[in-house]
Formats: sequence, structure tokens, C-alpha cells
Amino acid sequence: MPKKEKLTKICPKCGSTNVSTEFSNPANVAYGNALNYFCNKCDYIAKVFPEIKIKDISKFRKNLGV
Ligand SMILES: [Zn+2]
Repeated sequence: MPKKEKLTKICPKCGSTNVSTEFSNPANVAYGNALNYFCNKCDYIAKVFPEIKIKDISKFRKNLGV
């Protein structure tokens, strides 16, 4: 069995992995929609953040130029 690679959400703007889930609207969260992720570093908010392998973080940041 191949090892399952660990994934992490990463900010597409600044490359930070310090990403949290937006819980400011509990009603929406309860319905499982309008759930946003936000970057704690640059405050970027989006419905979908890219999810990449831990080992690809530096490559991702290099592509961003950060
Ligand atoms: Zn960011």
C-alpha cells in the first residue's frame, strides 16, 4: 500500500499555511455552505484554498515568488 501523503491548505496569495476556517456565520456553517477559509497572515478569504502536499510547500511558494 502506498503511503498517503499529508496535505495542507495553503494561501494562494502569500503561501502561508496558517489558514483557518471562517466561523463568523454559524447559520451558514450549519448548512455546510458559505464556509470560507482565511489566511491569518494576509487576510485573504476564499471559498476554496488549494490543498497541496507538505513536501511541495516550498515549491508552491517559489512559484508565487514569495
Ligand atoms: Zn495569505
